[in-house]
Amino acid sequence: EIVELVNQQTPLSQWPATLFAVADNIHRPGLLLSEPLVAGDALRAAFERGLPETLEELDRSGLRGRGGAGFKTAVKWRFCADEPADTRFVVCNADEGEPGTFKDRVLLNSYAGQVFEGMTLAAALIGAQQGFLYLRGEYLHLHEQLQGVLTERRAAGLLGENILGLGLNFDIEIRLGAGAYICGEESALIESLEGKPGIPRNRPPYPVTSGYLNKPTIVNNVETFLAAAHIAVRGGAWFAAVGTEKSAGTKILSISGDCARPGIYEYPFGTRIRQVLEDCGAVEVLGVQIGGPSGTFISNRELDRALAFEDLATGGSFIVFNCSRDILRIVQNFTHFFAHESCGFCTPCRVGTSLLKKQLDKIVDGHGSAGDIVELENLCQLVKHHSHCGLGQTAANPILSTLERYPDVYEKQLKQISYEPGFDLDGALA
Ligand code: NAD
Ligand code: SF4
Repeated sequence: EIVELVNQQTPLSQWPATLFAVADNIHRPGLLLSEPLVAGDALRAAFERGLPETLEELDRSGLRGRGGAGFKTAVKWRFCADEPADTRFVVCNADEGEPGTFKDRVLLNSYAGQVFEGMTLAAALIGAQQGFLYLRGEYLHLHEQLQGVLTERRAAGLLGENILGLGLNFDIEIRLGAGAYICGEESALIESLEGKPGIPRNRPPYPVTSGYLNKPTIVNNVETFLAAAHIAVRGGAWFAAVGTEKSAGTKILSISGDCARPGIYEYPFGTRIRQVLEDCGAVEVLGVQIGGPSGTFISNRELDRALAFEDLATGGSFIVFNCSRDILRIVQNFTHFFAHESCGFCTPCRVGTSLLKKQLDKIVDGHGSAGDIVELENLCQLVKHHSHCGLGQTAANPILSTLERYPDVYEKQLKQISYEPGFDLDGALA
């Protein structure tokens, strides 16, 4: 059916929703994906327990942001609630642009009600009346379906005025991105929400102090809102019982690349990478890109490392490469990606990512010398330490992490210089 739709050039927005449901491929549901959540239960539980007590429960759960950085959710929400203001905002960051990450698409396709419930819970806890779901432009096909879920929730008294008779007023609007990776950075996302180009702001002030329309705003990942809704119903201890001391609960992963069963997996934090590879049917593994191009490339000698904020943190991307792959081609692909997605605002990243691309291409094409590797490394440090936002600060990660692990692969690619017998090299250099 998919081949037929592609051949007929049918726009994605007109594909039957059932096709996307099939494509979800949830192989390993865990704590969150296997537990049902009745609509409205998280809100009822929060009001019954008391709103300040529910924020404490969230604190006890140890929930940390699921976009990748892992900032404590209860701390962020409390900062926002404590900021004096006449209005506050809740923003769900569904601009899932990290290559290899697609778990938020699945959550929005199959668990949207729970995500909206988490956003409404956040509104109750911080005192917000308006929320936004900032949806990645490429997820346009989900737009109509998500609007349908919002309409149903309004009809059921779960959004709008006086929600469930609890005195809470809150509604959610969906805004579409336009394909820029940088708009996944929270302050660029807020600029975009305000109708401006997606250029990252200076932080601090963080959005909890000055976000959308310069009002206190929380920006959280789709999975974070989903987890918060479950915690409101089942309690902090239920969540904290799983995972590690510093990384409570589970992480939902998008697994792709060289494996027999790509798709969605939910693991307790602390799970070894080896276990994940076994489950998804990966063999003869060369390495795994964890956390997308901005994350870490680990080699097959590091498979006993753990999925956790204190070891390998990830927003959800897990790309497997087998031994038939060429490391330099992988790094080249990621480096081109960053040069293309740089928003161009600051010179170290705008110029630096282009220079990284040129320098790496020179080496990959076999025209580099030993000095070019040194120059490549220096450029990496410059882009990493002088760029304005996270994009530039992480753009050199694919090069740096592979230079550290596979220096021989880079060296082997250098220009081979041969001299005629009897050629006086020392004399020529002198
Ligand atoms: P960050 O550590 O600067 O901030 C994380 C969150 O905590 C933000 O919401 C920020 O506002 C808040 N925060 C941090 N310090 C604060 C303070 N003192 N007071 C109040 N709030 C504070 O990280 P970041 O730059 O926002 O995000 C980087 C992460 O995004 C990386 O880990 C990367 O892996 C991830 N990422 C994810 C995707 C994806 O598709 N999911 C794409 C690209 C990058
Ligand atoms: Fe834009 Fe790159 Fe500078 Fe970030 S680091 S502001 S993406 S140019």
